[in-house]
Amino acid sequence: MSFADRPDTDRPVFIAKCDSYDPDTLDSVINSAFDSIGIGPEELAGKKVMIKPNLILGKKPELAVTTHPNFLEACAKAAKLRGAEKVTVAESPGGPYNAISFSAVCKACGIASSPWYDLNSDFGFSQVATEGRILKNSTFITPFFESDVIIDLCKLKTHSLTKMTCASKNLFGLVPGVDKFGFHATFPDMKDFSAMLADLANYVCSRKKVIAVCDAILSHEGNGPSQGSPRFTGYVLASRSVFSLDVVAEHMLKMDGEVLYLDAARELGLTKRQFDDIEIIGSEPVPCFDFKRPDSDSLSTIKNLSSIMDGKFIKLMEVRPKVNRSKCVGCGKCAASCPRKTIKMTGRKKKKAKIIHKNCIKCYCCQELCPAGAVFAKRNPILRVIH
Ligand code: SF4
Ligand code: SF4
Repeated sequence: MSFADRPDTDRPVFIAKCDSYDPDTLDSVINSAFDSIGIGPEELAGKKVMIKPNLILGKKPELAVTTHPNFLEACAKAAKLRGAEKVTVAESPGGPYNAISFSAVCKACGIASSPWYDLNSDFGFSQVATEGRILKNSTFITPFFESDVIIDLCKLKTHSLTKMTCASKNLFGLVPGVDKFGFHATFPDMKDFSAMLADLANYVCSRKKVIAVCDAILSHEGNGPSQGSPRFTGYVLASRSVFSLDVVAEHMLKMDGEVLYLDAARELGLTKRQFDDIEIIGSEPVPCFDFKRPDSDSLSTIKNLSSIMDGKFIKLMEVRPKVNRSKCVGCGKCAASCPRKTIKMTGRKKKKAKIIHKNCIKCYCCQELCPAGAVFAKRNPILRVIH
């Protein structure tokens, strides 16, 4: 059976060392990745390809928050050289979904025009019935509907809300702008939010051919997806299954079985249950890294102690987002993106953000989108000692 014929749950994951963003090195590794997972001209010739990078917000490539521009170009080039008719780079960053915002984010991320791709210029979107287990309908950006193939260019990162973000979570960026914040309000419970992410990725992968390619050269640890630190890991991963790739990524971060949206994907039968069941092509053994975890991850420590503490004490110990007012520049982006509208801009001379915690659902959208790194996860001092 060729790779192209194998069911999605049975897709191997390619992994190879890659120690730089040098264009020639990337061309060689990306071509090898495409060939190894069976992506040739028969899959791409004459097709409209959409590249979905991770451009969550405008950050320099060396901060490892966003897909590196050379990585993006190498993937676009590999698709074009396999006969793709058109390659369009499209993404809905955090914040409003429009030409001005997209162009500003691309500029900050070092993504310019290229002979190998076009930057998206259609900022329309439509709603469809997704008929998932929990996600019944969703809006998606127009380039999603207009493409035959999606190349999902994710980064390997820890994540304050979902612990890890990689291939399947990256598809959440196909939902336009502020609609994403609405999902946090609709699914405030982490288990439901995770089930929604699995439903959404399942819908996308059932409608389009999706190729996941992960930029794990310079990864991101700590308070990801945007407020952590770069961490050199030196690998490229690729798979025709976003879920299989994510199970391998989960293992690389020593988080096996911890990422709830992968649990939801496993329950839906979208991937093999364990890392050991996934066929690996390329570098073995698969490397594991001791990534710094997000500060919000302390919540799991508290839950582990729940048997010896009563509910009120646990509540008191909870990690919660807080604004460092001396760092806050008063831009109001957190207030505009908060799904519970629980951030107020206060102050007589200069407005600064203030979180009213009563309604906060701890989605960390405010931390994710703060351009000044002013939002942090505040841990109780006792918890710091325990952790
Ligand atoms: S906390 Fe960050 S996003 Fe919110 S107003 Fe201050 S600088 Fe802007
Ligand atoms: S204050 Fe921050 S963490 Fe709380 S609901 Fe609003 S965006 Fe989410």
